[in-house]
Amino acid sequence: MALIVQKYGGTSVGSVERIQAVAQRVYKTVKAGNSLVVVVSAMGKTTDGLVKLANEISPNPNRREMDMLLSTGEQVTIALLTMALQELGQPAISMTGAQVGIVTEAEHSRARILHIETTRLTRHINEGKVVVVAGFQGTSSTGEMEITTLGRGGSDTSAVAIAAALRANFCEIYTDVPGILTTDPRLVAEAQLMDAITCDEMLELASLGAKVLHPRAVEIARNYGVPLVVRSSWTDDPGTWVTSAKPQGRSLINLEIARPVDDVEFDTDQAKVALLRVPDKPGVAARLFGEISRQKLDVDLIIQSIHEGNSNDIAFTVTTPILKRAEAVTAAIAPALRSQSNPKFDEAEVMIEHNIAKVSIAGAGMIGRPGVAAKMFATLAAAGVNIQMISTSEVKVSCVVDAAECDRAVSALRTAFEIEAKSKGELLTPNSCTDAINRVSTPHSSPTPPVRGVALDLNQARLAIRQLPDRPGMAAKLFGLLAQHSISVDMIIQSQRCRVIDGVPRRDIAFTVSRIDGESAKKMLTQVAAEFGWSEVVLDSAIAKVSIVGAGMLGQPGVAAKMFEALAQQQINIQMIATSEIKISCVVAQEQGVKALQAIHAAFELAGSEKFVVPV
Ligand code: ADP
Ligand code: ASP
Ligand code: MG
Repeated sequence: MALIVQKYGGTSVGSVERIQAVAQRVYKTVKAGNSLVVVVSAMGKTTDGLVKLANEISPNPNRREMDMLLSTGEQVTIALLTMALQELGQPAISMTGAQVGIVTEAEHSRARILHIETTRLTRHINEGKVVVVAGFQGTSSTGEMEITTLGRGGSDTSAVAIAAALRANFCEIYTDVPGILTTDPRLVAEAQLMDAITCDEMLELASLGAKVLHPRAVEIARNYGVPLVVRSSWTDDPGTWVTSAKPQGRSLINLEIARPVDDVEFDTDQAKVALLRVPDKPGVAARLFGEISRQKLDVDLIIQSIHEGNSNDIAFTVTTPILKRAEAVTAAIAPALRSQSNPKFDEAEVMIEHNIAKVSIAGAGMIGRPGVAAKMFATLAAAGVNIQMISTSEVKVSCVVDAAECDRAVSALRTAFEIEAKSKGELLTPNSCTDAINRVSTPHSSPTPPVRGVALDLNQARLAIRQLPDRPGMAAKLFGLLAQHSISVDMIIQSQRCRVIDGVPRRDIAFTVSRIDGESAKKMLTQVAAEFGWSEVVLDSAIAKVSIVGAGMLGQPGVAAKMFEALAQQQINIQMIATSEIKISCVVAQEQGVKALQAIHAAFELAGSEKFVVPV
């Protein structure tokens, strides 16, 4: 007999008939000898409807009142599903988040779970009842008890957290698609179903726009080793398993806010190649990385940022042994890449940096916690370490620094994030993604393709800060300020080009934030411009971010080149590039987002033979 947590999303409980169908599935699962906790979302598009009502009354509704309002959606479903189960003769009881004791931070509309009381749940389960719990909501622990919500899509997080707290055998997420597909089937009908995906890959995909799972649900599954499967509530098909390496034992106290950083990693075998002043037009990155991949050279981080005028900088890191060849390829291409504004004089310039090191913090608890990256930058600043490149993913922030400063940087970060130093032989931690992927044994164990999924995020805006003084501590100040205002930052790219203005070397820095935070971030950063010494703050809200994810891209040359080539063929200009070990993201113009996603999905031959129709 197993203890199972099942979660049913909005479409799966969108009508009386659907609720009755869910009751039948629950009933069958119990009759098969299992105990069940069922977490449900609000019916259909109820939550959207409630948000719309609020916006008709106030353009900026109070967050506490929003939580009061939105939490009612789930309360309707728990009562109706419980009645449907009772009609089938199945003992069941409905409970709100507060009744269960889902204790959260007192942070309305985006509360993190601190702790889940299991006493009442366990008592009802032991009495043979199915407990039907309202997803997406909890209650604050400090001060007067308040109803909180976890953020849109948060019922997945409620379900996985309950599974972790009860040490359930597994957690099933029932939704309107047969599992996790290579991309959103609403945008690419030929998207293919995966049997399994690692937590690290899914964490990236979910955070980069694949809303099939709430990223925080994946984070909890990864941290607590909760076996997790995504399935269709319309069929009995097996769905997609989200696999994780065995986690270290973790306390269930401060469930979502415990240690955000698990490890500090470094790599001193790195060199940087930068190509400055390349034209801002489609095909440039494709040409450069196409040539590099033809030479079978593997690149690690790639960043590209925008600039005033119409030229870009592209920088990438390689391991030291292949630096000479990477440099030669880049230098050979540079003369052909001239800025159109001044073709005679403005030839692209190649810059090489030999003595660099990559220092990273890694951990699944960084999502939506802007303070973590800010703390890393502040720690490096306090140690007097200047940051040359920044690359971010959902589970890692990496900084390229001078190799001579690597030891100092690592030891300062280990102290700041309370990470114990490892013995000499294991200084470089094995990558957890490759580790996990090796453990996945899918029914058709074919070699892992380099790219598992493609995601599109249309909810981001790009901010560029011009002429930021280039000295230790500036990134810390900037991102510390954003963190204080609870603004989460996603891609961060520092320009390679340095200009001396008023005797101070300066660089631009660009980053993306949620579109809803764009205007307020711009206003706040403009207000402090004089004090912090930067010039302009530029906001572009009409962007799309398209990303590829796959643990198999590690050490495989040519993956980035293929993505850039797919975009070039469609004449899509790349505004920003940021990579981590297992993902590559490009920012393009918003209106080209869907076309970009489709082109990339096709380029990696991810399409299946069947067309997919999402139920309505
Ligand atoms: P629920 O209401 O069940 O929580 P959601 O609407 O939150 O469902 O998530 C399911 C939707 O996620 C699908 O209908 C699909 O359009 C979208 N989606 C985006 N990317 C993917 C992907 N890679 N695989 C599957 N579904 C995806
Ligand atoms: N009902 C909430 C929403 O629509 C939570 C969820 O469905 O996961 O965002
Ligand atoms: Mg959802």
